[in-house]
Amino acid sequence: MKYWIYKNTHKGVFVKVKGEKMIAEVIIGISHESLDKIFHYIIPETMENEIEIGIRVLVPFGKGNKKVEGFVIGLCNTTSIDSNKLKEIYSIVDQVPFFDEHLLELAKWMKEYYGCRMIDCLRTIMPSSMKIKSEYFIRIAPQLRETALLDFKRRSKEETEILSFLMSRQKYILLEDVYDIFGKESSKYIKKLSKEGIIEIQEEDKIKELSYTIKYISINKDLDLEELEDIVELYQSKKNYHAQARILSMLMINDWIPVNELKKALQVSNSSILSLANKNIVQIEEVEIHKDPYSHMDFKSAKPLLPTQEQKNVIQYIISKLDHSKGDSILIHGITGSGKTEIYLQLIEEVIKRGGQSIVLVPEISLTPQTVERFKGRFGDQVAVTHSKLSLRERYDQWKKAKEGKVSVMIGPRSAVFTPFTSLKLIILDEEHENTYKSEISPKFHARDVARKRCEMVGGVCVVASATPSLESYFECEQGKMELLTLSHRANESKLPSVEIIDMRKELELGNRSIFSVALKEEIEKNLKNKEQTILFLNRRGFSNFVSCRKCGYVLKCKNCSISYTYHAYNRSIQCHYCGDKLKVPSICPQCGSSHIRYFGVGTERVESEVKKHFPDARVLRMDLDTAKGKYGYEKILDQFKSHKADILIGTQMIAKGHDFPNVTLVGILAADLTLHLQDFRSAERTFQLITQVSGRAGRGELPGRVLVQTYDPSHYSIETAKDHDYMSFYQKEIELRKQLNYPPFTHIFLILITGTNEKLVISSAYKLMEIMKYLNKKDKFELFGPVPAILSKIKNKYRWRIIVKCDDRDLLMKYSFYCISKFRSILNTQEIQIQSDIDPLMMY
Ligand code: ADP
Ligand code: ZN
Ligand code: ZN
Repeated sequence: MKYWIYKNTHKGVFVKVKGEKMIAEVIIGISHESLDKIFHYIIPETMENEIEIGIRVLVPFGKGNKKVEGFVIGLCNTTSIDSNKLKEIYSIVDQVPFFDEHLLELAKWMKEYYGCRMIDCLRTIMPSSMKIKSEYFIRIAPQLRETALLDFKRRSKEETEILSFLMSRQKYILLEDVYDIFGKESSKYIKKLSKEGIIEIQEEDKIKELSYTIKYISINKDLDLEELEDIVELYQSKKNYHAQARILSMLMINDWIPVNELKKALQVSNSSILSLANKNIVQIEEVEIHKDPYSHMDFKSAKPLLPTQEQKNVIQYIISKLDHSKGDSILIHGITGSGKTEIYLQLIEEVIKRGGQSIVLVPEISLTPQTVERFKGRFGDQVAVTHSKLSLRERYDQWKKAKEGKVSVMIGPRSAVFTPFTSLKLIILDEEHENTYKSEISPKFHARDVARKRCEMVGGVCVVASATPSLESYFECEQGKMELLTLSHRANESKLPSVEIIDMRKELELGNRSIFSVALKEEIEKNLKNKEQTILFLNRRGFSNFVSCRKCGYVLKCKNCSISYTYHAYNRSIQCHYCGDKLKVPSICPQCGSSHIRYFGVGTERVESEVKKHFPDARVLRMDLDTAKGKYGYEKILDQFKSHKADILIGTQMIAKGHDFPNVTLVGILAADLTLHLQDFRSAERTFQLITQVSGRAGRGELPGRVLVQTYDPSHYSIETAKDHDYMSFYQKEIELRKQLNYPPFTHIFLILITGTNEKLVISSAYKLMEIMKYLNKKDKFELFGPVPAILSKIKNKYRWRIIVKCDDRDLLMKYSFYCISKFRSILNTQEIQIQSDIDPLMMY
């Protein structure tokens, strides 16, 4: 008997007995409830040495043996499985596996922990660029072509044109090219012709090109000029060849041109170019371009700072954990400006010394060039960066560098937690309280959970840090599940800003209807005089900007989403920020017909115009979704402000995160309490975090900072404790309330969202589901709430109703809830109702 040894199988070395077939365990690349299981395929002998875990394959699937993509997650042989009915793998798609056993284990854990489908987990751990796209090719049925059976007489003009075009080509033609010439409308004629059997359509799977290659076109060098001139002349005289003649004329004066530019300049189609290439008159060459997205930036190298005593304690403690960690988790609670980044840098250095690798997660919005510079300046090319503004190709390059061990540090938003490092020793989550660490699509994972799990699996250390830790993390420290390290001083000795609370109700009583209190106006003036910078922060998580009728009170709402429109002063339009619907402001009220339509509330534009009115000489920058468009739009604004090209920066949540502006001495928070009115048990926590983080922008340099907080609710504990920079008092008050009301971290929440376009059906389904849930809740182990309309009760014409289930046993809660949903599905099996779920949600929907 002969044995083959297989590498990389999940049970270590795999032994194959001669005469037996090798079998692959495959997850099919289609996300569907009924396909969420392992499918077995025979590995053809020719592929036996290439198939390993993480390899993408094409397999025949279903009755029609349609070719679909699949991912190999395990290998076995015929001793355990009856192979008679199994199909064979059709082909291997890529040379490299997309995940190793370790990441596969992580995916399996996510499937269980978040109750989602395996394929969604696999797609989450893989680089996002790896999609397969179908391409269609058409030709005239060969028998018709040969026997000249084609009868054009009874055909429409459009059909005749398409057919004569196809007749002039021998091979299959890319359907896209046909659309290029005859327009998308031609699809109906093509469908008809294909039904009649006159043309044939063939589908081929193609890996979506990671387009960082450029195609160049040039004239075949074997042709001499005379020959060429003859060809051009001939083409010019023929009716259907004008485009080709123009292409050649252009190429005769240019050596080579990118194909795209040629197409644009001459307005010619792919088919003309292809036709020239087929006749070997022109050549097309593909050149791959390697681009480092940060290569255009010049990073100054920077030496480590001498750590303060507090920093030193934290650094040394964590280093002591590095060598024999069993997945330790540590929370650093460090006030704003306490020098957390320097701590990360020195930890990473230690990890590099040990030959290990580190992942640094930051909220997407604070991943600015300045942040990148601090890491690149210290570690140079050892650092890779990934974020959503990079092209797929750029992201893939970063992923590949990590996979091949060419870098030691990866910086990125939550998805970077899946970086395929093989000697991972450290994961850092900066600003761990941020909402954006939780994914909004399935699997709705939280990067903090995944980072901790990953460290546990590989024996790494997970460090999460914030000036305002989430209640969940701080509570875990109290429970002894995480260690707590505290930094209570600023690293550069600058003082925390003084915070003053301004009661806006009193301002109203005194007849001040402006958005600025008297005190804030005075402070802004002072700052302008002293040439110091000011940040005006507008809390816009609440819906603070809407258009309504002063006579009847009617509020203009989007008809698709039931959300009030946002007003844009620059073109007097209103827009729904959920579906994008945009209108001019109507001149009369749709409800009562009066002409008293006004916009209310405060938007950043309104603040800007008020500032300009009061301080006409001030240089003002505004940062919001509208001004920060484009690849680096957001960075540009921050850069301008940092280099003191403006005196006042107006912004929303986008400017609250970790930026370091040394010359900012005044921060005005215009309406601090808007987050207090969200229908969410975390609203006090959000308000505290926001005020603390925004205040942290003031006085980071040598000059002391002042913060003015305007509010209608000055005695609220979240505002009072934020004023004193007193996280502990806030935490104690808040955790007590959570306990009384039985909210997380004392319990777990399972949120169910029932949606559909038929409102009656959505409501009746929600009630039906609740009935089932009540019936199955025999021992009252679960607290049930609802059904109620969701906070956003209608989005893009879909009605949304919500049910909330609470239970302190997470596993039990998931089992029960999924069981109820599946029971409901077996009773009411309609495609018209969609059910989404979220375990441990961060938003209450
Ligand atoms: P955090 O992330 O905790 O808010 P940063 O890491 O941005 O704080 O540090 C705040 C400021 O203190 C930065 O300007 C940084 O350069 C400076 N800093 C950090 N550590 C030291 C140190 N050991 N000595 C001097 N300055 C430091
Ligand atoms: Zn809308
Ligand atoms: Zn009205």
